[in-house]
Amino acid sequence: KDEFISMAAHELKAPITGLIGYLELLREELTAEEKIKFAEDFNVLTLLIDNLNKLINDLLDVSRIEQGRFKIEVKDTNIPLVVEEVIKSLQPLINEKGLVLNFNPGENIPSVKTDPDRIRQIVTNLISNAVKYTLKGNIDVAVSQKDKFVQIEVKDSGIGIPAEELPNLFTKFHRVKDKQTIEVRGTGLGLWITKQIVERLGGKIGVESIYGTGSKFVFTLPLAV
Ligand code: ADP
Repeated sequence: KDEFISMAAHELKAPITGLIGYLELLREELTAEEKIKFAEDFNVLTLLIDNLNKLINDLLDVSRIEQGRFKIEVKDTNIPLVVEEVIKSLQPLINEKGLVLNFNPGENIPSVKTDPDRIRQIVTNLISNAVKYTLKGNIDVAVSQKDKFVQIEVKDSGIGIPAEELPNLFTKFHRVKDKQTIEVRGTGLGLWITKQIVERLGGKIGVESIYGTGSKFVFTLPLAV
């Protein structure tokens, strides 16, 4: 199954890249009037392609992790800055759902020797989940230092996770079945990938949640890998 997934994901990558390119070409050929007329259709198409692209990237990450081909590039990293960039990129999504995100970047957080692109990926996964699984209220993101570790916390006032689901949350393809999120799409790969990356970077990830009240995901990173 793993080999099949890896092969299929590689084969899907090229047509998706083609689709993205051709959609852009097509848009450029439209007149100003047509651009307005078809704007909504283009938005929907872009969103669908983005989702597909994300799915394929997740599958590729799964195969890279499993085959030990997952690359880490360590650099001096300003964690609060990386987190802030992720928040900025997700802000439209947050606004669209009418949620409020509070960010506490911490004080005097030392720079961390780690992989900033991977941190971006982890934080994007956690905040996207907080947005996906929160119907109303707040998301609180905070960075702090705990001895030789920097800690990042993503807390939401969302639907929460039943206690009996918590032990399986970080396993591959695991999704919680909940009436409230039947419409929310996902693969159950995000948290598995996230945990694998955190551990590759020498950190730990954990979750606390009260069903119906909200969830808090916390991960740590050693100051140097
Ligand atoms: P996906 O979101 O693609 O289903 P993930 O691996 O990211 O996959 O998450 C696994 C499951 O954990 C989700 O399907 C959801 O049921 C639950 N989950 C993750 N984050 C949250 C959250 N912040 N609040 C409530 N449930 C969550």
